[in-house]
Order: sequence, then C-alpha cells, then structure tokens
Amino acid sequence: MSYKMPQWDDAASAIHNAQTILVVSHISPDGDAIGSLLGMTTTLKALGKTVVGAIDDEIPNYLAFVPQSDTIVQTVNDEFDLMISVDASDEERTGNVGDYGRAHSKTVINLDHHPTNTGFGDIHLVVPTAVSACEIVFDLINHMGLDMSEDTAYVLLVGMVTDTLGFRVDSTTARTLAVAQALMEKNAPLPQVIGRTLNSKDYENVKLWKAVYPSVQLDDQVIYGTITLKDVESAGLDKVYDGGLVSHLITVNQARVSVVFKEQLNNQVEISFRSKKGYDVGSLAFSLGGGGHTQASGCTVNGTLDEVKARVLPMAHQVVTEG
Ligand code: 5GP
Ligand code: MN
Repeated sequence: MSYKMPQWDDAASAIHNAQTILVVSHISPDGDAIGSLLGMTTTLKALGKTVVGAIDDEIPNYLAFVPQSDTIVQTVNDEFDLMISVDASDEERTGNVGDYGRAHSKTVINLDHHPTNTGFGDIHLVVPTAVSACEIVFDLINHMGLDMSEDTAYVLLVGMVTDTLGFRVDSTTARTLAVAQALMEKNAPLPQVIGRTLNSKDYENVKLWKAVYPSVQLDDQVIYGTITLKDVESAGLDKVYDGGLVSHLITVNQARVSVVFKEQLNNQVEISFRSKKGYDVGSLAFSLGGGGHTQASGCTVNGTLDEVKARVLPMAHQVVTEG
C-alpha cells in the first residue's frame, strides 16, 4: 500500500505525449469501473488519440444501457504508448487485458480510489478520499482543461451514483454533490441514472433473495448470509453481480459488519464486506488477498463455504471488537 501523491501534471504530460492508449479496469466490472473507463476513452478519443477500452469480463446486462459500453472489448492485441488502469487496486484485478497491457505499453497510469491500492504503475493518481474513480477522471479532465461531452458526463455520473449508492454512503461530501451537479449541468440525467441502476432489478434477483434470506443470521453485531451455487441456479441466474444484499444487510441497526459468502466453482468463495462508520473491513479484505474501501470491500478465497466461514467470521468479529 505505498502509492505516491496524485501526479496530475505527470499524468497530463503522459497523455499528451501518447498517441495509442489502452484503458483497462477491474474484472467483474461495476458501474464505477465501466463509468471511469468510458469517461477516459470518450475524452481521449475526442482529443484525437487512438484508444482501446478493455475488460476481460462481459458488461453485465444491468449496465448495458450505459452509453458507449458496447465499445469495450474483451481481448487486446496491439502495442500502446500508454496504459491507464482505472478503479483497480492491484494488478491482478485488471485481468488478462491488464497483463497484456503492462507488457505492451511504455507507461502505466494507475488511477484509483481504493486505500488498499498497491502502488503499481509508473504514474499514480490514487485518491482514497474520492468516492468513486469517476470523480478522479472528472478532476483529471478539469486539470487538463479538456472539454467534457454529454456522454462523458453521463458515464461519470453512473460511477458516482453506483459507488455512493445514490449519495448515501458515509464518504459522501459536499464536494461529491458539487461534482454530480457539474455533471448534471452537462446534461447527465440523475433520476434516469438512479432509475436504471439502484432502482432496477430483474425478478430473478428477488427469487435469489428468497432463496438466500433463510441463511441470514445476526451473531453479535456481525450479520451474514450465504449464496450457494444452487441458490443462483434455482433463481435462473448464471452469474451474480448483486452487491445489493450485503449493502442491504448493513442497514440492520444491530449490525456493525455485514458479510455475504458467495460459493464459486473450483472450491472458491467470493466474499463481500460492508461496515458501519468506524469499522474497517478494507484492511480485513486486504489481509485475505482482496481489497476495497474502509466500509466496502471484498476478496475471493480458497475453500468450501463451511471452511471459509469458519475462518473469516472470527476475523469479522475482530473488526467489531477493534472498531
Ligand atoms: P463488492 O462487495 O461490491 O463486490 O466490492 C466492494 C468493494 O471491494 C469494491 O470497491 C471492490 O472494488 C472491492 N473488491 C471486491 N472484491 C475484491 C477483490 O477480490 N480484490 C480487490 N482488490 N478488491 C475487491
Ligand atoms: Mn470504484
């Protein structure tokens, strides 16, 4: 976790000096990953650069409405002057396209807002106080004095809305709202963005919650639930993108930490953590090989559901004790 103070001028020079630019973000992309990636690609294309935006995984259906999301590719095979990694706290999170980009780019910019960022890359724009990577892209565009198109404003607002859960998380400040206001002044439609992200779900997700709710338990200020592969299949889903359950569980008054265990293939379990203000689940996820924010984090660990729960729940209780 050693990253430099934001290097705005170095980032601006690297962008000006580059003609071919690869922009990557994290696997299992969320609204901020896609918003910050497209915020960069749309801006760089308007500057006349040759730009590729790439993420290993498909864009989840619920984010297909995002303008220009169909321009994101899943494989890359060119040479680049510059790679920009957005919203990814470590190199592994950028997947195969990130590996490829590091080997085929002269310079790497690491633009991120996770306090667990490992400090990879040549030029750092790591701002842990930013509520979303999109906010840092917004600041970079302004720092460089570039125009912001309507599409750019729209995609950046998607990341701001989704990472702040509609400006409800503790990290939201007056500055967050000022950035959102500036994006709205560029015609980004806040109610529509909220309507298509936070206020939108398929019935399959309700079926999944019906299956999962019986597993939910509150145990000494830690609330947790388990999503099995069978639950996912019986709900008619092939993949779960829903971080909604863990965020929902942390709203329980008696809970300080919420945990959702998601069974994966290959004897792995994906874990999502959320916490109330003053309790640090970011360091917990980092110690398990993942990362995230103080109050929202995640990781994937090896083992069966029972093994992983037996190992991780005492660690979640430790966060409550130390908080
Ligand atoms: P979620 O629970 O919504 O999947 O993730 C919450 C936060 O934790 C996000 O900021 C996400 O980037 C981070 N996160 C989730 N899983 C991982 C992981 O496996 N590795 C890292 N480095 N961060 C993760
Ligand atoms: Mn983010």
